[in-house]
Amino acid sequence: MFPFKKKNIMDVRTYGDQGLKKKSAPIKEVNNEIRKIASALIETMRADDGVGLAAPQVGLNIRMVAIGCAAVRKEADMAMLSPGERELLPRMPIVLINPKIISSSKVTDIHDEGCLSVPDIFAPVERPVSVVLEAGIIDGELVRAECGGFLARVLQHELDHLDGTLFIDRLEPEILEEIKPELEALKKLGHKKNFIKKAGGSLL
Ligand SMILES: [Zn+2]
Repeated sequence: MFPFKKKNIMDVRTYGDQGLKKKSAPIKEVNNEIRKIASALIETMRADDGVGLAAPQVGLNIRMVAIGCAAVRKEADMAMLSPGERELLPRMPIVLINPKIISSSKVTDIHDEGCLSVPDIFAPVERPVSVVLEAGIIDGELVRAECGGFLARVLQHELDHLDGTLFIDRLEPEILEEIKPELEALKKLGHKKNFIKKAGGSLL
């Protein structure tokens, strides 16, 4: 435990917090306050080893998400990526303003997801493998690009947060049933800090 809390790091709300269930409001103007929130969102995501963090997870119901997918190291690997990954991965971490998914692929896949707001729980979620994203980049241009790979999954998970949806809302009923005791325990504990991260799991 660290005795001091860094100024720019916010508390992450966990399952049971009512703000996580709300639909968030669009951002009308990128002003200094929004810029401050954006940088705190990135710092908080980094401090908690997340690859994504949505504003409602820190108690702010505005349409803003931070994404911190790993950048691609090798030039050769870039050719394999979707246009959106090629455009966005080199700029990580980024903050998206009023992001929207314009369309989703019919093809889906299933992967385990975790969430900073649902600590210690990982479960398989089916999602489209690729989405067309339209979003403002803070202090940047408007992007519209088809995103695949892990980025597609992170985007869908984070944008769900803006509509009050958690990944556990997308689980098969029998899987949800299995994790119910853990969810109930989490709700009772309320704010849970310093949770144990499972090896290999990504927190979104
Ligand atoms: Zn999440």
